[in-house]
Amino acid sequence: MFKRLAGLLLLVVLTLLTQVGGIALALCWLVGRLLPPSSPLQRLGINAGLFAGFYVVLSLFVVPPLAALGGRVPLPCTSEPDRPFAAAHPAFCWLNRHYVDPRLNALLTNLSRDVAQQFPGTVTLFLDANLPFINGFPLLPHLSHGDGRKLDLAYSYRGPEGGYLPAQTRSPIGYWAFQQPAAGEIPSPCRAGAWLTTRWDMQFLQGLFPQRTLEPERTRAALRWLTTEGQNAGIERIFIEPYLAARLGVSSPLLGFQGCRAARHDDHIHIQIKR
Ligand SMILES: [Zn+2]
Repeated sequence: MFKRLAGLLLLVVLTLLTQVGGIALALCWLVGRLLPPSSPLQRLGINAGLFAGFYVVLSLFVVPPLAALGGRVPLPCTSEPDRPFAAAHPAFCWLNRHYVDPRLNALLTNLSRDVAQQFPGTVTLFLDANLPFINGFPLLPHLSHGDGRKLDLAYSYRGPEGGYLPAQTRSPIGYWAFQQPAAGEIPSPCRAGAWLTTRWDMQFLQGLFPQRTLEPERTRAALRWLTTEGQNAGIERIFIEPYLAARLGVSSPLLGFQGCRAARHDDHIHIQIKR
């Protein structure tokens, strides 16, 4: 009974986390039933191997064409000279959290080219996008990333010496290393410690991240492009903490504040395109 419940829980967690993980686990169970009895340790090894095999084969060969039928394509995970954008961490791709409407792929290509033209060597980094399938299936913890039209972008950072750090974020996965309002800047109106919110402070993590400050030139160039060319390319909304947009000197009707019940945006920029 306990084993079944634990298995069911694992199935739910893997499905919520990656969608593909849940499918791979279900396939693993189906095939496992056909195999002859073996010791628990052997069975664990066989299941782990089956799961890994199914996950990789599904992710590489089965999911992309199926997702394309529903209008989503995987963003390329590594940068190339004429397409200088990449996943901030390969885990976004390993977990199949990098699927988008093809228009976002084109938009990100043009954004990254524009910023790299102004600041050679810049690599634009993306974070969570969407899962491959099913409109309305959220990419936790981002409740809105459920239709292929949403994408998070990392800020650019500079190191202790002050120079731009190519293709690096402050936290290993880009999220959770929050900017703080400087003296004189108006902080977000959200109450710290409020319940029923995904506006986590992650105080215990902040001291673990290296000292890297926001690189304003490249971040401003990206935000400017998003509010001008990006708007022409279909962007309908951009979420960023208002004090950061003010610090960067960018204003636009597209810029919004997500409210206090949604993920905060002082560690990344959220963009969404029209239907
Ligand atoms: Zn987002």
